[in-house]
Amino acid sequence: MKDGRAHTADDRAERIAEFIAPLRVKPGSKVDLSKDFDPTHKKGIKKKKDGQELLRSGVALLADYQRRLAAEGTHGVLLCLQALDAGGKDGTIRHVMSGVNPQGVRVAGFKVPSAAELSHDYLWRYSRDLPRRGEIGIFNRSHYEEVLVVRVHPEHLTRQRLPGKVEGKKIWRRRYREINDWERYLTDNGFRIVKLFLNLSKEEQRVRFLKRIDVPERNWKFSAADARERTMWDDYQTAFSEMLSATSTSWAPWYVVPADRKWFARTCAAAVLVHTLLDIDPQYPEIDDKNRAALELEKRKLEDEAPAGAASDPYAARAAAGARRPGGERRRVR
Ligand code: AMP
Ligand code: MG
Repeated sequence: MKDGRAHTADDRAERIAEFIAPLRVKPGSKVDLSKDFDPTHKKGIKKKKDGQELLRSGVALLADYQRRLAAEGTHGVLLCLQALDAGGKDGTIRHVMSGVNPQGVRVAGFKVPSAAELSHDYLWRYSRDLPRRGEIGIFNRSHYEEVLVVRVHPEHLTRQRLPGKVEGKKIWRRRYREINDWERYLTDNGFRIVKLFLNLSKEEQRVRFLKRIDVPERNWKFSAADARERTMWDDYQTAFSEMLSATSTSWAPWYVVPADRKWFARTCAAAVLVHTLLDIDPQYPEIDDKNRAALELEKRKLEDEAPAGAASDPYAARAAAGARRPGGERRRVR
């Protein structure tokens, strides 16, 4: 039985690894978004129903592995979500994290930096919101805005009051290096970084913007600024392509997730996150003999306190009864 179970778990890990492999940006490769990644792609899953099924099992696995991550308390995971407006970041967070304990997750969103934030170095506000060991942190937009929106709109860079000359391409090459170094430092110290770019087509963005205008409950999600950003589409595609080429590293690779179908994007996001957690393979702490003996002693004392007529250990009694029922060995007692 034990071997059989281990085999199934390995198969599952292998299937997930195969599914996400085409999304990964090979470190050192040169990405041209318009040619290399198709926003409408849904390879590996034929029907929406199959994708939703996969997402459900991914969500269940995430819940299980998040408990282990928290119990072990050694690693933290940081999920960075980048996308253009209407790319599906919010919905991805809502769906992918729907099964996990909110106590183990911290979500941080990043907007235009405040005056207080601008009085620090540019990575400061991101490090302030990093997850602790045992937690999954989610960045809804991330430090990558510093080489995306800040690059497309140089006035943001001016507001950062950097010393010396900061014109030209040099500043972006320097930022890629700084970001790679920062992520390497975090990885070396137990924090895994999962980076997802939700790759939306221009046509699908048009459709989603229209929906935000047409449906009153969605109006709040649309602003004139979003429409302005859309006019810079090509500049963003270039900035994304260069960012993906320069910052997909062996310690923190990028995954480009086809985002035109929401269900497919969510399934991919769950799969990449699960893949990372399976790789970390966090374990519940084991108790040594001395502590085991101490627990047994406490158990004995609690059993002795049982009121007249009560089972000395009702939990063990229920578990034993469950195990005697057909299929009961698989049922967990709460
Ligand atoms: P949203 O996520 O739609 O609420 O919008 C947040 C806005 O803040 C987006 O337009 C981002 O481009 C912008 N933003 C995020 N980070 C930065 C940054 N570091 N510098 C300038 N603008 C930013
Ligand atoms: Mg927006």
